[in-house]
Amino acid sequence: MPHTTHDVINQVPPREGHNVFTEDAALAEALAREGAGWAAGDLEALGARAGDPEAIEWGRLANEYDPVLQTHDRFGHRLDRIDFHPAYHHLMDTAVTNGIHAHPWAEAEPGSHVARAVKLIVWSQAEAGHICPISMTYSVVAALRHQPDLAALWEPRLAIREYDPAFAPPEAKRGLTAGMALTEKQGGSDVRANTTVAEPDGAGAYLLTGHKWFVSAPMSDVFLVLANAPGGLSCFLMPRWLPDGTTNAFFVQRLKDKMGDKANASSEAELDGALAWMVGEEGRGVRTIVEMINRTRLDCALGSAAGMRQALGEAVHHTRHRDAFGARLSGQPVMQKVLADLALESEAATAAAVRLAGAYDRGEEFARIGTPVVKFWVCKRQPGMVAEALECLGGNGYVEESVMPRLFRQSPLNGVWEGSGNVISLDMLRAMARSPESVEAFVDEVRLASGADARFDAALDELTATLAAGVEEPDARRVTGRMSLLLQASLLLRHAPAFVSDAFVATRLAAPAPCYGALPDGIDTTAIVERALPA
Ligand SMILES: Cc1cc2nc3c(=O)[nH]c(=O)nc-3n(C[C@H](O)[C@H](O)[C@H](O)COP(=O)(O)OP(=O)(O)OC[C@H]3O[C@@H](n4cnc5c(N)ncnc54)[C@H](O)[C@@H]3O)c2cc1C
Repeated sequence: MPHTTHDVINQVPPREGHNVFTEDAALAEALAREGAGWAAGDLEALGARAGDPEAIEWGRLANEYDPVLQTHDRFGHRLDRIDFHPAYHHLMDTAVTNGIHAHPWAEAEPGSHVARAVKLIVWSQAEAGHICPISMTYSVVAALRHQPDLAALWEPRLAIREYDPAFAPPEAKRGLTAGMALTEKQGGSDVRANTTVAEPDGAGAYLLTGHKWFVSAPMSDVFLVLANAPGGLSCFLMPRWLPDGTTNAFFVQRLKDKMGDKANASSEAELDGALAWMVGEEGRGVRTIVEMINRTRLDCALGSAAGMRQALGEAVHHTRHRDAFGARLSGQPVMQKVLADLALESEAATAAAVRLAGAYDRGEEFARIGTPVVKFWVCKRQPGMVAEALECLGGNGYVEESVMPRLFRQSPLNGVWEGSGNVISLDMLRAMARSPESVEAFVDEVRLASGADARFDAALDELTATLAAGVEEPDARRVTGRMSLLLQASLLLRHAPAFVSDAFVATRLAAPAPCYGALPDGIDTTAIVERALPA
């Protein structure tokens, strides 16, 4: 008689084989609403890929096996090469062949930037770290267009839907990727404290010398760099390889040992007379690079919406397969409230982030102030939300075999980079001061839901009074957060079922709860969770 030590019962099957796009009604609706319904077929295919066990395994492997820097070869020559696990390249290849990188710039179709934004939400649920170089490759084009001759040279090769990881001159590669090097030790958010210098080489180019403290994706083919030219802080295009077929004087000192985002290589690097060309006007580097930063900020919000959605999916899946105290977890009243609350957060984040993508697609004024408002709040909500979702899995959510620790460690990053919370809320104030039309566009957008709910109307009156009175620096976070909540409520009141919008207004505007799951009675939690993830 075999001796059985234990039976495996009441354990949850892995969440795989699902379609990340089609099972997300709020996302599919946002896609259509923002003018990219034509991309639904592609997204359905990508959604199936993102939920496929093979892609899920790529995500695990790319985080398990960190990128490795090879500074020198065995003879002592500089190499500055980053070795990645093959899974990372599969992830990158899928992102690029699906056009999540710079491809939308080459598409004339209205809605192409929205389609790309929704693809980002879908595909980053396979793995979030590799989205960094994908996002930079997308965003760089917006700044590069300030220098049409350079844009003509580089843009077509950044937009091509072919991924080529070779460490080789651009002419020898099928497709290229881009990075950026702004941050220095003494000046991160405050780039005006940067000390990297750019000296004219006498032949129309510049030689950059300095140290960059954070350079993600250092294997990129080309970078936008901020450096001090004789006429002030300027933006430069710095290729990895020189026209003569040798490598540029860009030296990767070490890779950062980060708390998360493991698949993505982030480095410290030195520029020792690196050849570069100016992008935009001399002395207007911040103004030029901000075009890129705005797009990466959009991607932060999209990425956070994706991270929250994935965490929600894991939580609902787990609780639908696990019993406790004789009943299915997902059906127990307190768990129902937690899941519904997480679903509200996720849907609101998705609606706001995709709305912002639509503003960029259509070149709307709303994008100026909408970017800090949405980036600030959606990214800030991610860590707490992911922690609560992790808790729904109990101890199984806290072990490394689960995807939850990875989602949790990734979760604060979008809040940090591309402008941390304070910096972003101060940018909202800057938008208020310099672009009153964007404030007007924002209020007009939010007001579209007027009359739908008295609690919303009251909150909107209060906000418009606050904005009219002027906002001082100490109040930047409070007002930016409030603006975001009003925008989310407006979007849900107009476009989500009443059981979603009513619950959102009740718990985010009327009587904010101290923690997730503390919903008042009378909210249709079953309908909210079923909409979020059909059983
Ligand atoms: C994983 C990772 C990858 C990165 N990759 C890149 C990259 O590829 N290229 C690149 O250029 N950079 C990169 N960065 C850098 C990133 O953009 C910066 O870390 C970020 O912008 C914050 O700058 P900092 O770290 O210097 O912090 P600081 O600027 O020192 O800010 C510290 C804190 O002070 C707050 N603060 C700043 N100014 C004010 C103010 N006036 N009032 C009140 N509060 C303020 C900030 O909000 C923040 O909370 C990366 C960072 C990380 C973590």
